[in-house]
Amino acid sequence: MKTAIFPGSFDPFTVGHAHIVERALPLFDRLVIAVGVNEHKRSFYPPEQRVQFIADLYTHEPRIKVVGYTDLTIDLVRREGAQFIVRGLRSVKDFEYERDIASMNRRLSGVETVLLFTDAHYADISSSVVRELLSYGKDVSEFLPKKP
Ligand code: ADP
Repeated sequence: MKTAIFPGSFDPFTVGHAHIVERALPLFDRLVIAVGVNEHKRSFYPPEQRVQFIADLYTHEPRIKVVGYTDLTIDLVRREGAQFIVRGLRSVKDFEYERDIASMNRRLSGVETVLLFTDAHYADISSSVVRELLSYGKDVSEFLPKKP
């Protein structure tokens, strides 16, 4: 059983994230979308709400599981019996960051990271931009995925 973890803050989960999920799903038997909770980082949406929002989007897809986690991604990988981590790449900036994390995760646990290049249509969408718009009371519905 090929299982991949798609970890992230998902604060909030955007159409860019959803597109990565859509493209990753055919590559694996199971996909675990994992909402990372960092106690030292203040979040915009509480972790339970982020998990619930994503879980509601994928109730029709039995191969997707949504969890929250507070430990290291490699520990979650082990708990879920996963062999892969999926991440999205938008830019050179993402690349440098993802390369270091992927390399360290492989060193520590042997897990392979599969990086998917973002579709150009979603490359400028980030949770932080969505949060910024929300804080000024703007409508962000076009950036948030809707249940199919
Ligand atoms: P983190 O805080 O771990 O970077 P994010 O929730 O910001 O978590 O992102 C999770 C993953 O989704 C990362 O690999 C990030 O590069 C990717 N990602 C974020 N936004 C997009 C997007 N618009 N298109 C594709 N991938 C994205």
